[in-house]
Formats: sequence, C-alpha cells, structure tokens
Amino acid sequence: PAGAALLDRTADFPILSRPVQGKRLAYLDNGATTQKPLAVIEAEKAFYEQSNANIHRGVHWLSQHATDLYEQGRESVRRLLNASRPEEIVFTRGTTESINLVVWSWGRANIKAGDEILITGMEHHSNIVPWQLLCEQLGAHLKVAPVTDSGELDLDAFKALLGVRTRLVGVAHVSNALGTINPVGDIVRLAHDAGALVLVDGAQAVAHKVVDVQALDCDFYVFSAHKLYGPTGIGALYAKHDILAAMPPWQSGGDMIHTVSFEGTTYADVPTRFEAGTPNIAGVVGMDAAIRYVEQVGLDLIAAHEEALLAQATQAVLSLPGVRIIGTAARKASILSFVLDGIHPHDLGTILDTEGVAIRAGHHCAMPLMTRFGIPGTARASFALYNTPQDVDALVAGLRKAQKLFGIGHDQ
Ligand code: PMP
Repeated sequence: PAGAALLDRTADFPILSRPVQGKRLAYLDNGATTQKPLAVIEAEKAFYEQSNANIHRGVHWLSQHATDLYEQGRESVRRLLNASRPEEIVFTRGTTESINLVVWSWGRANIKAGDEILITGMEHHSNIVPWQLLCEQLGAHLKVAPVTDSGELDLDAFKALLGVRTRLVGVAHVSNALGTINPVGDIVRLAHDAGALVLVDGAQAVAHKVVDVQALDCDFYVFSAHKLYGPTGIGALYAKHDILAAMPPWQSGGDMIHTVSFEGTTYADVPTRFEAGTPNIAGVVGMDAAIRYVEQVGLDLIAAHEEALLAQATQAVLSLPGVRIIGTAARKASILSFVLDGIHPHDLGTILDTEGVAIRAGHHCAMPLMTRFGIPGTARASFALYNTPQDVDALVAGLRKAQKLFGIGHDQ
C-alpha cells in the first residue's frame, strides 16, 4: 500500500536530488543500472587520491596497499555470495564477460559435438548468444526450456529436456524482463542428477535478495556491480574451486602466468589465471564499497521494501484500463513489465520521461521472450532500495497522462 516505505535512503544517492526535465526524478530503470551512493563515489575518488598503483607487481608500499584493497574486494564478493573461499571469485567486466569466460574456457574444454546446453526461454541475450556461438563452433546443440503464460519456467518441460547429453544448464536467477524468480535450488538438483553443471545469471538477483551459492550448490554464478549500486565495468564470476582450477586460460597476457619462455608458458593458479592484464582496480574498490553499503542497509530489508513497492505498483497499474502485465509469477523480484492497449512502450517511455519518470521500454535484451508473448516489447519499471511510494505515484500519474493524450478514457 502507498506510504509503506520501509526504507528512506534517497539522501545517500546524490543524483536523485537533481531535477530531470524540470521535474522531480523518479528513477525506475534500476534493472538497466542502479544509481550510486555517495559511499561508492567517495571510495573510487579516495582510491585515486590516496591509494593508486598497479597491483601484484610492485615491491613498493603503494602497490602492496592497492593489492590489499583489491583482494579485500574479492573477500567482499565472497561474503556477498557466501562462497567458501576467495579463490573462487574471478573479477570480470561484468555478467557478460563472466558468461563468456565460462563459455570459452570451460565450454571449449568440455563440450563436444553432439553435446547439449540447456537454457530457458527467459534468458538475457548474454546468456543465449555466447552459447549459440559455442554450439555452432563445436557442433553442439542449444536446447531451450519453455516459459509458461505466467512467465515461469515450465519445470516439467525442463525435466524432459534434461538428458544424458546435457552438459550445462544456464538459467537466470531473476528474469530481467519479467521479474520471475526461478527455483534455482530445484533446477540445480535436477541438473546435477542428470550429470550437468549449472550456471546462474545473477545480474538481477544480487541487489534484491540474499544469495548463497553454497546453499544453491550452483557451479557458476555471475553478476555485474553496476546493478548493485557499484561502478560499471566490473563484476564477478563465482565458480566452484575444483571446476575453476581445472579450467584452461581464456584471455592471456601479463599477470596470468607462472613462467613464460618461448618453449612454453605455465599459468598462474586461480583466480589469477583468469585475470590477464591490469584489472579495473578502482572498480573493485567501488564494488567493495557497494557491497558494504548493501550489507549495511540489509538485503532482507531491501527485499521487503521492494516487495512493498512492487505490490503497490502492480495494484495501481492494474487499475488502469487496457493494461496487461507480462510476468505474473508467484515469486517475483522488483520488476513490473506491462503493455497498455493502444500505446507503444516507446511512446509510453517518452511521455513518462517528460514527467521525470525514467523507465525502460523495449525488448530488454530478451527478444525470444518477447516473441513468446507475441509482443515487440514492454514498458518496465524496476525498483531499487532508494525508490519510494512517491515514485510509484509519479509512474501511475504519468501512465494516466499518457492514456489521456492517446484518448484512452478514464471515468470522469
Ligand atoms: N543478464 C541479465 C539477467 C541482465 O539483466 C543483464 C543486464 N541487463 C545482463 C545479463 C548483462 O549484464 P551486463 O550488461 O552488465 O554484462
């Protein structure tokens, strides 16, 4: 219900106080990227002002100091995901690069012609296209488990598709286009029983719910810091230690070697083997600050707050004429995707923008899912810990305005 804000953290986010289009900003495009709290902005600034040096190579004090900060960031990611050891965390540019690392290192070493990769019909393009490329190159097959009318994974169909040739299952923890929370624990059990590994795309999960990779028992878990109040260009891959340790290098160059000679090169242990070149050190420091910020606010409180906003928004949007919510799963996180009769989602996004309301309109990098629902795209409002009932009110007022402009009637 309106007014039920469990959290009021807007003051932590400088950008939220800037007007947009002369209006108070209601930023509801958090599925694309979140805004950054001052704690994150200050951490990156402080790194460059006080701690900047290259890591892992200097004998000098600053280099050691920067290395300590970098490794402290790894420990924070370990804590966030409840991985059992920091060596299971590889820093990457984000979700996309993490998936590519698994595809091109683990995939190329373990997939053979005739093998199968099983994904779901609600994956983001970044958990589709790399697998397609791998399958094309190796003569393997990409199978897709269908999605029900409510936007949930069809578990019976999923089970039927799991077979002796399935080597890996790729699944989004939370769908970025629908908000559906997938039953990852069950999926992992089924996949492991069939002898397949599981990669979980956590891009839309880590900022919204507590994640425990040991409890899930997944083999790979990937996310991007920028959807978790952290900087762009940084994220992580979690992989079970034994699986990671057996994986060959992917990107290569400096830092990832043990010894190099023209006769042959030996590689560093994990995770260093997968971090070729100078990494995004300041990004790791920013991500570390973001994780600490989220821990301090509390993920359970964040989840409850966002659930209240989602309930408020769902109820209010359903009161509009000609609305269809895409994704009505029983378990959803933070995302409201919908279409309005007679108004293209892009027009809706443009009209809302003039009211200071930022949403996403389009296919959300999930074109096969849009095809499944027979629509070109949706309007998507996605919530973060700093959103308020007032933001939801602004969204609904903007939608009413759009319907009036398009001559779609409201009583009175
Ligand atoms: N998977 C999901 C579910 C996502 O929402 C996104 C970002 N929209 C990605 C993958 C890709 O993340 P990135 O662009 O940060 O690599």
